[in-house]
Amino acid sequence: MAFLTRRKSLLVAASAALALSLSACGGSTATTSNPPVAEKPSFAADTTMAKLSSAGKIVIGTKFDQPLFGQKGLDGKPVGFDVEMGKLIAGKLGIPADKIEWKETVSANREQFIKNGDVDIIVATYTINDKRKTEVDFAGPYYEAGQALMVNKDNTSITKPEDVKGKNVCSVTGSTPAATIVEKYGAVLVPAATYSACLEPLRNKQVEAITTDNVILAGFVAKEPEAFKLASDQTFTKEPYGIGLKKGDTVFRNWVNDQLEAFDKDGSYKKAWEATAGTVIKTAPALPAINRY
Ligand code: GLU
Repeated sequence: MAFLTRRKSLLVAASAALALSLSACGGSTATTSNPPVAEKPSFAADTTMAKLSSAGKIVIGTKFDQPLFGQKGLDGKPVGFDVEMGKLIAGKLGIPADKIEWKETVSANREQFIKNGDVDIIVATYTINDKRKTEVDFAGPYYEAGQALMVNKDNTSITKPEDVKGKNVCSVTGSTPAATIVEKYGAVLVPAATYSACLEPLRNKQVEAITTDNVILAGFVAKEPEAFKLASDQTFTKEPYGIGLKKGDTVFRNWVNDQLEAFDKDGSYKKAWEATAGTVIKTAPALPAINRY
């Protein structure tokens, strides 16, 4: 009897140790890189879900140069919170991560890529707004960012958007922050195709600031904290991130929205955040209320 009790307590101790070591790995990208894949999920005929699921592959547009959200690694595979969202959705369609074709989308080509059918969905720090909704549809939002400014570490003259009036500011063509900084704050836009292309002009002082979403800038600051800083912790717009898909595909949009809510309930949303953007941005987001328009 005494032996059994002792044996049992040893087993308990062993499994506790295992749980500990597993949770210690829980924050690594490896554990969320291959999210669960549904086994033979069934979908109503003629839906986009049925089509993708039976093809066993999906093309997902994302950024390739944005730390924390979508950045292509040395192995050629993108990593980040957007990438994890894409993998989770693919998994619900029964598509494993290695059957996802990742296509680089930049701010200016997203609507066109969706309209052309170059991609099935886009998860790419993609702000939902009415103008874009005339061309594409959005599931979500799955995150809410806000526009901010990044400056050189030694800059003391820019702390708010009003400070960039008449100054050279780099941002990306086709993005919402590029439009806002010119139209609302009178900056002189120095346009680039991607945010990473703005880094050297800032370092060289060809521009005085870079503007885009706070969480994108936070990724660049985290990589080079000795060179760059956020001008302030304040944001000055709301940038709700949606998953872009073909306009009019309401059944697919509703289904993606259902999945986002499911990821929130089963903890995979939180896990995806912690493994990626959460390594730098410590406040974990709550899934915003889904906009089922
Ligand atoms: N979220 C903003 C947008 O969709 C800025 C980030 C980006 O360009 O992707 O325009």
